[in-house]
Amino acid sequence: EEVAAKIAAGEVVERPVSVVKELIENALDAGATEITIETREAGKRLIEVADNGSGILFEELPLAIARFATSKLSTAEDLFNIRTLGFRGEALASIAAVSRMTLFSCPAGAKQGGKIVVHGSKIETYEPVGLPPGTVVRVEDLFYNVPARLKFLKQDTTERNLINALVSRYAMAYPDVRFRLIHDGKVFLQTYGRGEAREILATYYGVEVARQMLEVDLEDADISVRGFISPISLTRANRKEITFFVNGRWAQDVALTSALLQAYHTLLMVGRYPMAVLFIHIAPEAVDVNVHPAKAEVRFRQPDRVFSAVQRAVRRALLAQPS
Ligand code: ADP
Ligand code: MG
Repeated sequence: EEVAAKIAAGEVVERPVSVVKELIENALDAGATEITIETREAGKRLIEVADNGSGILFEELPLAIARFATSKLSTAEDLFNIRTLGFRGEALASIAAVSRMTLFSCPAGAKQGGKIVVHGSKIETYEPVGLPPGTVVRVEDLFYNVPARLKFLKQDTTERNLINALVSRYAMAYPDVRFRLIHDGKVFLQTYGRGEAREILATYYGVEVARQMLEVDLEDADISVRGFISPISLTRANRKEITFFVNGRWAQDVALTSALLQAYHTLLMVGRYPMAVLFIHIAPEAVDVNVHPAKAEVRFRQPDRVFSAVQRAVRRALLAQPS
């Protein structure tokens, strides 16, 4: 059972940034307006995510860390109409299987909050504690019991950069939420929940790049494509700066990236790529997010319509740029 739990965990938790992603998504699903992410040693020693969301009832804490326990779907039809970021009930259980996890939580208005400590899936402590409303998930010594995983982790700078890229994108996708990212006691990124997307762009790319990025804004029937792309004068040597969100969920999708690149057509020099952060919104039933536990891939019911919308949105932004 313990081995099975660790293998299953590997599907969801590959490296520190995977933990950060799952915890941020849980906080967003809980309706948080403030999310603070703290790491030590690039997340290998500690990852802590605190939110002011709806919290978990004391009685439900053990359920939250149980495998396949989700509070977000109640009927089979829900699976075809997913409006939350999580729905598998795998993340907390998977993280708990490969770390020393402590979950503190208190719903607003509850008489008391609770604390549960889990080491490699085993509950060590479960007790009531006084807490402000919200949830704190503390993940210590990630992969302490999976040496093979530990060996595959990259240098701290690399792991930290992955976390920075992820958090800054989520901050852009959710401009009304205040994000704070702290590495080893030092604030790396802070947003103010004022809904200023370009301001958030600047915190990550710097003011000059943010100023040059072109705004994308297309609405076509039930599809909307918004965000930012770089002009032709501002390219990179790889595709890493191309990010998509589909219905608020980070999507790493080769087909979407190709569609975007086609819109640049003959404009790009060989081996050069634009920077882009694009947010696609589409009816939930038109996209299947149920592809893989890490949920980075998406499958559209009508991919061509989506790709075409992305291309038109990008071309329009490029044409509108001041020359
Ligand atoms: P999923 O998100 O797929 O439901 P998780 O394992 O990520 O599964 O979380 C399990 C459950 O724990 C969630 O369904 C939710 O009820 C609860 N939960 C987890 N994190 C939070 C949080 N930050 N705030 C409130 N509830 C949470
Ligand atoms: Mg989740």
